[in-house]
Amino acid sequence: MIVTEKKPFDEILRSLEGEEKIFIVGCGDCADLAQTGGEKEVEDMAVRLAEKGKEVVGTFVSEGPCHVLRTARELRTVSEELNLADSVLVLACGAGIQTIADLVDKPVHPGLNSLFLANVKRYGWFEERCSLCGECVLDFTGGICPVTRCAKSLVNGPCGGAEEGKCEIGNGRECVWQLIYDRLKKRGQLDRLLKYQVMKDFERSIKPGVLDLRGETQDERSIRIGNADQARASWHPEFEFGHRNWEIQLENVRPRGLTELQKALDGDRFVVTCELVPPKGVDVNQALQDARSVKDYVTAVNVNENPSSKMRLNSLSLCHLLVEGGIEPVFHITTRERNRLALQSELLGAYVLGIRNVVAMTGDHQSMGDHREVKPVYDLDSVQLLRLAIELMGGKDYNMNNLNGAPQFYLGGVINPDSDLLELQIIKMRKKARAGASFFITQAIYDLEKFSDFLDQVKDVKAYIIAGIIPLKSARMARHMNANIPGIHVPEGLIERMEKARDKGVEGVAIARDLVRGCRDLCQGVHLMPIGWYDKVPQILEGIVSV
Ligand code: SF4
Ligand code: SF4
Repeated sequence: MIVTEKKPFDEILRSLEGEEKIFIVGCGDCADLAQTGGEKEVEDMAVRLAEKGKEVVGTFVSEGPCHVLRTARELRTVSEELNLADSVLVLACGAGIQTIADLVDKPVHPGLNSLFLANVKRYGWFEERCSLCGECVLDFTGGICPVTRCAKSLVNGPCGGAEEGKCEIGNGRECVWQLIYDRLKKRGQLDRLLKYQVMKDFERSIKPGVLDLRGETQDERSIRIGNADQARASWHPEFEFGHRNWEIQLENVRPRGLTELQKALDGDRFVVTCELVPPKGVDVNQALQDARSVKDYVTAVNVNENPSSKMRLNSLSLCHLLVEGGIEPVFHITTRERNRLALQSELLGAYVLGIRNVVAMTGDHQSMGDHREVKPVYDLDSVQLLRLAIELMGGKDYNMNNLNGAPQFYLGGVINPDSDLLELQIIKMRKKARAGASFFITQAIYDLEKFSDFLDQVKDVKAYIIAGIIPLKSARMARHMNANIPGIHVPEGLIERMEKARDKGVEGVAIARDLVRGCRDLCQGVHLMPIGWYDKVPQILEGIVSV
């Protein structure tokens, strides 16, 4: 059924301005179940409009106004009252409202907002289970839909944000990947998740959807779609992903010695990268000064893209300025706000501007940032974005059109070693490595023993690991991160250390130094996220790492 909600009464009154005689149409099907447009709601609306001085010339509750022919027949029974009306107020979903607008030659006003296609769990309790994507993947996910029930529509595995089985966006809903994991594990089918899910073909769900079975039966249609899929698979390597051909292609396009970061990692040198957050505005002076202050201590500087979904200067521009300033950047690119057309353009642009290191990620959900109302894109997930970047490096765009000059990138991904869904994170990490990631930057780690266990589990993955480190500034900061940043767990012992310290700055640096020292024996580098403490970067590294 379609779930609807009532529009605010004031909004309805505004839309009826200048119209005195109103006819109200309700819906005896979905809107009745949703308690927004059945007999009771139509009567209530008639009373409220009358109280505001409107004359309600008639009301009618259709069996279901989305059914055009039936509704046309129904409306004939109330044609006299309808003729008296200045306008019609419809308490139905958008489809029902449009039926009335097509059938009645008068102004038609919506009384409801349409929300989603729902399963009815109980009377008055609805849940969205399908967003009609046109390419069902339920076979691989234990009959649970990640397209609809994951806030980012991720189809190749979870993001790193789930906490205690709940989604990172903090609305109390379960992370759907936890549900998928539990079900597949119970059935002994976790291996299904290893399969790479190809990028969706949105041509199949072009709006407006029309299905006309008068010229083609459902069986004929199914055969036609199957044939089109086969034809596509014969020329599009995305469908070969994971097969022998693809592995060969990956090795063919992977560059050697492209960046200082790659040279250092391939040359067994312990690397240090440092995070730079672009300004909120166009004054880049402080950011460039911060980058210059750490330049001699790090191999490369990573530039975030709208971190925590808060709008800032784009990563690409700042990376370019770093290149001009003789500092090697690592460009972070997210799939949150661009479709594959924009992502490809952005990657080509990055190459032209001298950017070679790229970290592909999905990005924090927009509801966590300062533009909560924006339309989420999530056309691709991070695995698919890596795959797309490799495609460009092979001289082809997503649709196998030749490029006039191919870019070269040193590609990386992100991983959260402290995730509640670690087994799934690792499955996704393997997919990313096979899709093209040569290195992984982790979420901030604080527990070296746990980190070491994680590394043991991924030692067969052919990629370098760079451990994320956020120096602690206070016990309060540690507690705040534990409570608010998905995937960060500062152990109580470190929090106590910070609490007891007389000089928090000195203690924070000492803890960061311990972590860097520990990582030297465990992985291939560290990624410092100093959060303003750029002046402390030399102290954190002194005597442990020199670049
Ligand atoms: S994958 Fe999800 S959104 Fe797509 S058709 Fe299946 S249930 Fe619906
Ligand atoms: S935590 Fe991440 S993977 Fe899980 S449902 Fe939320 S957005 Fe999707």
